[in-house]
Formats: sequence, structure tokens, C-alpha cells
Amino acid sequence: MRISDTVAARLKELGVELRQGISLADETSLAIGGTTDEILLRRYDTIPEVMRLLANEHIPHRFLGGGTNVLIVDGELPWVVMHLPTAHPGMRVEGNAAYVDASADLGGMVTFCAKHDLGGMEGLIGVPGSVGGALRMNAGAYGTQIGPHVREVELYRAATGEIETLRGGDIRFDYRHTSFAPDDVMLRVKLELPSNPFKEILAGIKVCNEKRRSSQPLNQKSAGCIFKNPPGGSAGRMIDELGLKGHRVGDAMVSDRHANFFVNTGHASSADMLKLIDEVRERVRSAYGIELENEVIVWRN
Ligand SMILES: Cc1cc2nc3c(=O)[nH]c(=O)nc-3n(C[C@H](O)[C@H](O)[C@H](O)COP(=O)(O)OP(=O)(O)OC[C@H]3O[C@@H](n4cnc5c(N)ncnc54)[C@H](O)[C@@H]3O)c2cc1C
Repeated sequence: MRISDTVAARLKELGVELRQGISLADETSLAIGGTTDEILLRRYDTIPEVMRLLANEHIPHRFLGGGTNVLIVDGELPWVVMHLPTAHPGMRVEGNAAYVDASADLGGMVTFCAKHDLGGMEGLIGVPGSVGGALRMNAGAYGTQIGPHVREVELYRAATGEIETLRGGDIRFDYRHTSFAPDDVMLRVKLELPSNPFKEILAGIKVCNEKRRSSQPLNQKSAGCIFKNPPGGSAGRMIDELGLKGHRVGDAMVSDRHANFFVNTGHASSADMLKLIDEVRERVRSAYGIELENEVIVWRN
């Protein structure tokens, strides 16, 4: 979607940067996605005004973090994307509390806290993407999830059109699902983390890094796990048992390292990846009677 000159001029007055005709394939870890305009929200206090402008002008929008958990359709997209700039995100520690901007890299946050002898998040070390995306998804790995550490989230709340602070206890963090409204924009988080010497945290980080390296196709284009695990089960194990590792549609392929990772081996289209997802879901449904739910977020037209 192309923003009109009038709206572009208004954004400029607000000091908001507009990048026109961006390929989202360049902004996502799957390297799939069409073209649209991108609004860079450098100053958080402009967000309510920008949101009002988009609503008044009937401009649909989506919010993109690090782009590591989204599958975006190809072609000219009928919505703009909004993005928090990632350079120099704020991070500070006070006692057992860490205050971090949502645009910060999640792994960078884990190591920053570790250097201040704050642990508890070692399992999240290899999860790519932003802190905002991790909050939205309640990212987790190896028995750790971000949700239980959250004490406060500063966010733009779609319901009120204002920037507010929510207490951690008022937010539900479930398995890769949270109670934030779809249009809420996470801006900053306060986490409470257990004290632990840096050396011990580092040892935990190394173990998690090693587990990831030995089981995941980290040098290939993916969005991590495509499906959520069903209660008590493992999506990857079922897909593997069906002999689907290496199964492909065009350049979209079930990883031969981890059956719940689908990789773009070259120039996969969104249609290739969506077809592969549907085929695998159907095979699991007919073999196990289980309907796998997407973990990856699909942005269609
Ligand atoms: C190799 C690889 C390994 C992975 N391993 C794991 C893993 O072990 N565990 C795990 O949980 N995930 C994993 N993932 C998936 C992904 O990294 C996480 O879900 C991550 O938290 C997504 O963050 P992001 O910033 O990239 O979000 P995006 O992909 O950009 O967005 C995901 C969702 O969050 C929303 N969002 C992003 N930022 C904000 C914000 N500031 N405010 C409001 N909404 C926002 C988007 O609108 C979208 O709905 C993996 C991915 C890859 C590629």
C-alpha cells in the first residue's frame, strides 16, 4: 500500500520517518513477503497521533518486530507496516529489575542482563527477534518463557488510544499467546530477574546455544517452529514420524534437521510455504487425528 503525499507530509510534520516501497522479504527471517510502505516510530510519544492519522485516513496497518515469526504473502500489500527502529534501544538495570525497550534484540537483552548478574532467561538466548515480539508471542524455549518475568509493560493501547502501563499480573501469558489486544504496541518492559553470577548464567547460555545448534537449521531461512505443540505432544516428532523431513513444495521445505522448522531453500513464494503448511497439517490430521495450530503468524491480504 502506498501512502498518499498528503499523509506523507503530515507524518513528516510529526517527525515520523516513512520508507516507501519496502520489500518485506528483506525484513523477515523467511525472506518471503510483498511490498508496502513502512512507518518508523522513532519517538514513542508520536504513536497516538500517528494511529489517529491512520484511522482517519482508513489506512490499515500491521506491526512488525524482528520479522522472525511471520509469514507474509507476496505482491503489493493492502496495509502499511509500522516498526520501532532498532538502533540504540534503551536497556538499564536497577537491583533485580531490568528496563528494556521493545525494539531491543532479545538475545542482546539476555546477555546485557547476564553481565549485570541477572539470569533466569538463559533459555531465550537463541530466540531471534525483538523484545516486543517476544512479549507479544510469550517467547519461550528450554523451560523458560518471558511472561513470568514481566512486571510492567508500557504500551500504546488501541482501546484507549493512549500510551499506558499495564501491570504484569494484569496480562495473561499462555503458550505462545498473550492477552494483548491485536493493535496494542509494546514499547518498554520492566522485568524482574533472579540474581546469579555472570559465570553461571554464561554456562547456562552455552548449554542452550549448543542444544539449538545441534538440533535446528540455524543457517537456513526459517521462522522457527511452524506449528505449536499440541497438549502433551510434539508437532516435530509427528511430522518426523510421517517421514516428511525434506518434503517440499517448490523451494519451501520441511527441514531435514528439525521437522517443525520449514525452510526457504531459495526463492520460495508465500503460496509455496502456505501449501506446504496445509499439506503437512493434513497429513498429521489424517494420521493422528490432531489439528495442528500455527505458531507462525500468517499475514494475508
Ligand atoms: C531460527 C529461529 C528459532 C526460533 N526459536 C524460537 C524459540 O525457541 N521459541 C520461541 O518462542 N520462538 C522462536 N522463534 C520465533 C520468533 O523468534 C519469536 O516468536 C520472536 O519472539 C518473534 O519476535 P519478532 O520481533 O521477530 O516478532 P515478529 O515476527 O516481527 O512479529 C511477531 C508478532 O509480534 C507482533 N509484534 C512484534 N513486535 C511488537 C511490538 N513491539 N508490539 C506489538 N506487537 C509486536 C507482530 O505484530 C506479530 O504479530 C524462532 C525463530 C527462528 C527464525
